Amino acid sequence: MVRKYSDLNKRFESIKFAEAIKNKTPQTITLSEITYLGKRNNALGVGTAFCPCCMGVRYHTCDITVPIRVLEYNCTTGDKYIAFDGTHRINRVKDSNSQTIQAYVFTESELENLVETPPLWKSPL
Ligand SMILES: [Zn+2]
Repeated sequence: MVRKYSDLNKRFESIKFAEAIKNKTPQTITLSEITYLGKRNNALGVGTAFCPCCMGVRYHTCDITVPIRVLEYNCTTGDKYIAFDGTHRINRVKDSNSQTIQAYVFTESELENLVETPPLWKSPL
């Protein structure tokens, strides 16, 4: 099923990742397989040294040893991961000529299990 990045992000925004990563070991993944490094990111310059969100401050000050969070996803363009966060770290690592980055890799079903679904109705009592 093809879905937009924004839809995925919205779907999983309630997840408490600080808890979720406790049971995870970071993996080394290839930067070029992250879909966030594609047209979306490069066109806007988000997360770069000239980032419009922070004027490049976060790019220069981010801790690149903190693993990013990605969703394992078979994109039609051949990418394998969608990044949930870490655009500044991704760009810093990329600019240091590294081909890989540390990441917590989640599957879609894993994330679905972590979503806090609100109850359908609330008891008036
Ligand atoms: Zn920024």
